[in-house]
Amino acid sequence: MSLPVTDTSAGESTRRIDTLIIGSGFAGLGAAIKLSQAGKEFLVLERAAEVGGTWRDNTYPGAACDVPSNLYSYSFALNPGWTRSFSPQPEIQAYITSVADKYEVRRRTVFGCDVQDAHWNGDTHRWDVRTTRGDFSAKNLVSAVGALCEPSLPDIAGIDRFGGEIFHSARWNHDADLTGKRVAVIGTGASAIQIVPAIAGTVAHLDVYQRTAPWVLPRADREYTKAEKFAFRYIPGFQRLSRTLQYLMRETQVVGLAKAPVFMKPLELAARAQIRRGISDRALRRKVTPNFGIGCKRMLISNNYYPALDRPNVDLVTDGIAEVTTDGIVTKDGTTREVDAIVVATGFHVTDSPMFAGIFGKDGRSLADVFDETGMQGYKGSTVAGFPNLFFLVGPNTGLGHTSMVYMIESQLNYLVDAIDTIDRHRLGTVEVRQDAQDEYNRGIQDALKNSVWNNGGCASWYLDKHGNNTTLWPGFTFEFRRITKHFDLDAYRSVAESDLPAPAEAVESAGTTTERTAPASRKAALQ
Ligand code: NAP
Repeated sequence: MSLPVTDTSAGESTRRIDTLIIGSGFAGLGAAIKLSQAGKEFLVLERAAEVGGTWRDNTYPGAACDVPSNLYSYSFALNPGWTRSFSPQPEIQAYITSVADKYEVRRRTVFGCDVQDAHWNGDTHRWDVRTTRGDFSAKNLVSAVGALCEPSLPDIAGIDRFGGEIFHSARWNHDADLTGKRVAVIGTGASAIQIVPAIAGTVAHLDVYQRTAPWVLPRADREYTKAEKFAFRYIPGFQRLSRTLQYLMRETQVVGLAKAPVFMKPLELAARAQIRRGISDRALRRKVTPNFGIGCKRMLISNNYYPALDRPNVDLVTDGIAEVTTDGIVTKDGTTREVDAIVVATGFHVTDSPMFAGIFGKDGRSLADVFDETGMQGYKGSTVAGFPNLFFLVGPNTGLGHTSMVYMIESQLNYLVDAIDTIDRHRLGTVEVRQDAQDEYNRGIQDALKNSVWNNGGCASWYLDKHGNNTTLWPGFTFEFRRITKHFDLDAYRSVAESDLPAPAEAVESAGTTTERTAPASRKAALQ
């Protein structure tokens, strides 16, 4: 279907649009494609200069996906061009940009557009969205910013005064040449275990600061053979069959992760064997052996992490960081290790995203205020009571530890497109999930999680919020989520027909007018 191209020129006036999508990673891009195919009017706001989200931003050495390539793509845009069974970051980013080109998403995207805040306007029954490229008034707002977009910096004394190179793994400074330097990596999560082997051979010395030892499984990564590449491209159904088999194999992990952790034992044995294979030194083996149930934190996969730790120029430091000085790191036992550069691989703000502080619902409270009180609760990962016409992609309890997030995103896209279609078909002005429906849904989620290894595995992880609730992960099989998001369930919502909405006291007119409201500086800063 061909639609009029939206005016994406920057300007001072308030631009009126049916649906605004914030972010152009896998989620935002998918929303743009699906809404376009459904004939809806929308615009994507992207703070960077390119699409791609987390795969655009994470360019650290060794960055690669830990979900098999054939499973890590949109179902409607398989990629026969993958070169390996687990794709490196540049291939995934190239795939994302190629999809954006194919579906002509860029012409409906405002790049360099940083959303500062979004207020539900009770007079116009629309979202007032303030950005670095002007103001927008949207009937529907879609948050597609993802969970891994805001780097989390550790609260370590003195870290600001370090005089050498220091950067977060998701903001890798490619101008900083680490060759022959003394380097520290803080963290041993999914990012760090890829960075460490990638740089261990070129730096002079590497200190890896581990707070909690992760479980690391073998990585079945290899280059695809010519025959496989041929088959993916030319044999109808072959790549989809491979994808389906990978999907089913990964789903079997849900039994151990969410329902009966005893079934995780074989994976634990495989991970212990990895330690013995990769590390010769007994003391180092003890240091890297986790003290919690496998799966409680995200299981990592790597074949070269342990051998990298075993190198003579690499030290695993487990004493805990006391402070950072101008030229090194001091651990709690009083030892100072001088370094030229620090790589901060300490993850992201997931349950406390700064974005939450900039979205204000119908009672004037921000999502951050609401989540602070209740935890990050929503309905079907897509909507939150008190925030009409706001839709999340990768929202509360949609995260996964075992398979492709793209599958979850596509489930949410079904729900989103059907929601907007329902709004249009029934000429609804507002839809807002009922508090009782949301509460009942969350009771079910927490109940389903109560036997899971994430809740009982004896670890502290970012899966759990400060209330002790797991508000990040989907508790079951992903096909169950696909089923409950297949259609928008208007029954769970309080809706008001357009014709029944009170007339706006202060209407926001179409292009040309400027909104009056001014946001406090602190709110503006929240989304920067
Ligand atoms: P992460 O999994 O949250 O790991 C952060 C690491 O930093 C942990 O080892 C954590 O230790 C440590 N840390 C945090 N604060 C610290 C502090 N103050 N002092 C010392 N250590 C500290 O972050 P990530 O590795 O960036 O990965 C985030 C997510 O991104 C992953 O779960 C995954 O979803 C995704 N990811 C995927 C891939 C892939 O597909 N291959 C690669 C990278 C990232 P504790 O464990 O003690 O908290």
